Amino acid sequence: MSDLLVVGAGLYGLTVAERAANELGLHVTIIDKRDHVGGNAYSSFDAATGIEVHQYGAHLFHTSNERVWEYANRFTTFTNYVHRVYTVHGGTVYPMPVNLGTINQFFGTAMSPDEARTFIAQQAAEFAGDEPQNLLEKGISLVGRPLFEAFFAGYTAKQWQTPLEQLPPSIISRLPVRYTYDNRYFSDTHEGLPADGYAKWFERMADNPRIDVKLGVDFFAADGDLTKTAAVGQIPVVYTGPIDRYFNYSAGNLAWRTIDLIEETLPTADFQGTSVMNYADTHVPFTRIIEFRHFHPERSYAGDTTLIHREYSRFAAPEDEPYYPVNTAADQAVLAQYRELAKAEPRVHFGGRLGNYAYLDMHQTIASALGFAETGLIKLLG
Ligand code: FAD
Ligand code: UDP
Repeated sequence: MSDLLVVGAGLYGLTVAERAANELGLHVTIIDKRDHVGGNAYSSFDAATGIEVHQYGAHLFHTSNERVWEYANRFTTFTNYVHRVYTVHGGTVYPMPVNLGTINQFFGTAMSPDEARTFIAQQAAEFAGDEPQNLLEKGISLVGRPLFEAFFAGYTAKQWQTPLEQLPPSIISRLPVRYTYDNRYFSDTHEGLPADGYAKWFERMADNPRIDVKLGVDFFAADGDLTKTAAVGQIPVVYTGPIDRYFNYSAGNLAWRTIDLIEETLPTADFQGTSVMNYADTHVPFTRIIEFRHFHPERSYAGDTTLIHREYSRFAAPEDEPYYPVNTAADQAVLAQYRELAKAEPRVHFGGRLGNYAYLDMHQTIASALGFAETGLIKLLG
């Protein structure tokens, strides 16, 4: 008999399980309805090309949290990959996020950092001094209307299919704006990709005789001893699935976006010259193309073939993979009801991106799980 049931073998569930087993000496059972650990960050190696493919969308690890960096490095080493993204607008390729190179290329200028700051401040003046209330206001106040319309309005329309005034400003605050030619996508102290692949990292986290991983097990199955009906109230549960699914959507469905990843293997050693190319314009139906071989320039791949994913975003139905929480005011109202229900649930902790309905990156997920393992877990155990 385990001391703890963890539902979901993503980074949140794995981190809690690892800490519970190694730090507290508990026996933990982790279930996942998929056939692998690692949740959405999982990757596998394509049999034909040997290229590592991120099966649920491209995952780049980055953090400025020293504790998270140290923790992740217990299970994997990281390559020195530095993420850079380019974007196509009006038939021209620009560096993204917006930096001095993007600004000067877009306006056909040779502005210095100070000149560009002054210039963009004028373009952003329509919302100056006001706290941005939504993604549209935030975007324009960051880069001004012309750059916003060129690089964000179309991409965001495709990615979210939601009026920009209804989207939270935090979605766009993820991206820096720089008045230098630094075109790194992230500004964090540490970044890199797991040297021998994501799957190995996650398998090492679960590699402990006190951790029992059971795959292909659905918490909401009609029968079995590791289901919601059988387990809740009998054993402490850490639940990392969608919070609305847990309560059988009784307060309504939370809106999620999912992505159709359309894979192609192409007869060239290099399709686009970089790992991620965004497509800012709405006449192109996909948001971006990922070319996976560029994530690992240190690896040698046999043959002149490459593997790409085109990403097509749409609203998720309950049977789809829930990838991005939309988080409109209406969603927040529904979420508040689920949070109330969650408080009353006997010895169940809701965690992770799905359990919190939050747009968490991997490092934030790990930080949140480490925090819970340190304080909340003892309370949950009772
Ligand atoms: P998940 O990884 O979603 O794991 C939850 C697990 O619970 C899943 O394995 C699921 O199968 C399981 N589960 C759900 N319901 C049940 C059930 N009923 N029974 C049993 N098991 C169940 N972060 C970054 O830092 N960098 C990136 O570049 C990045 N890119 C991303 C791209 C995409 C498309 C997405 C969707 C996310 C991205 N992230 C990225 C975020 C990252 O995926 C998350 O931070 C992290 O995976 C969250 O871990 P988690 O354990 O909370 O959730
Ligand atoms: N975004 C955009 N244009 C871009 C890149 C990003 O408009 O070229 C906006 C868009 O709304 C997107 C958000 O910024 O959803 C966050 O982008 P990020 O690349 O961080 O998204 P993720 O990698 O999580 O899909």
